[in-house]
Amino acid sequence: MPLSRRDFLERSAAVAAAGFVPRLPSSELFADPAPAPGFRARPCVVSSSNGIRGVKVAYDKIVAGEDPLDAVIAGVNIQELDPNDQSVGLGGLPNEEGVVQLDASCMHGPTRRAGSVACIENIATPSLVAKAVMDYTDHVMLVGDGARRFARAMGFKEQELLTEKTRQDWMRWKSRLNANDAWLDHDDDLKIKFTTGTINMNAVTVTGDLASVTTTSGMAWKVPGRIGDSPIIGAGQYCDNTVGAAGSTGRGEANIKTCASFLAVEFMRQGLAPEAALIKTLERVVAMTEARLLGPNGRPKFDLEFYAVTKDGRYAGATLYSGGRFAVCDAAGARIEEAVYLYRR
Ligand code: ASP
Repeated sequence: MPLSRRDFLERSAAVAAAGFVPRLPSSELFADPAPAPGFRARPCVVSSSNGIRGVKVAYDKIVAGEDPLDAVIAGVNIQELDPNDQSVGLGGLPNEEGVVQLDASCMHGPTRRAGSVACIENIATPSLVAKAVMDYTDHVMLVGDGARRFARAMGFKEQELLTEKTRQDWMRWKSRLNANDAWLDHDDDLKIKFTTGTINMNAVTVTGDLASVTTTSGMAWKVPGRIGDSPIIGAGQYCDNTVGAAGSTGRGEANIKTCASFLAVEFMRQGLAPEAALIKTLERVVAMTEARLLGPNGRPKFDLEFYAVTKDGRYAGATLYSGGRFAVCDAAGARIEEAVYLYRR
């Protein structure tokens, strides 16, 4: 049974009466540590590399004093609405039936709130619907048709998200199916990538306030109804205003099993620098990988990328395999940087 706050207080009182005095009054045990007076972070926005335009938009907003979550959502909206980014929103690659189903989630550090939508159809900006779930409901997560109907009720416009280009890619994929095809096969020969991206973006303001968002069309050609890591709080992204924020792109199934964005933030809470926290997270992912997804050398056959920012404005990107890149914007401007990695390719 979880301990209610009331039980906790009663037990603390009983323990105190028996001669043990808790080190801190309970109000302090439950409070966030306040930043030291005069605390100043280095404002910074970090994202997957497809967010190179978005990090600049988000950074300009946070230095102008706008809310960090509004800023990162404005950043990812660029990719959601870009039909040429096939990993997200309009023009995202569809499921096996040719239907675009989108996932997104967000967290707002200062108010400790979260919102999420999964498997939503016909709405190009699921990141904004996730924020609407956070802002206007008593819930954290809406899925499928309920999420779409909620979005429509909130005034979002419904539209066809399958573009001519993604329809053709889907037909090309379909035409390769044959009697020997198995659900678990990854067809290495297929020129269209099996997983396709996603955008995660995290920001810290000058006062150390944090936010994170992840939005995606998920794994291409997925089984209808499949939900990836992106809408799962603690997997696709996680944000704790006392520590930092982290998020992910890549094979969502591997991320969900390790609650990896939450884990990365916890490693930073323990004092690890963001690079070290992300590498330790990747090691956990490898340790939790099932045998069928490991190559002969014991390394995963997939890739997974993480991005993180700390409350004071340090940042990192990390990937399982070398060659990964991520986008960052701070006082030095928007740029692409090399990610740290676990294995050399
Ligand atoms: N993480 C996404 C998912 O599994 C896909 C991706 O980032 O490539 O849905």
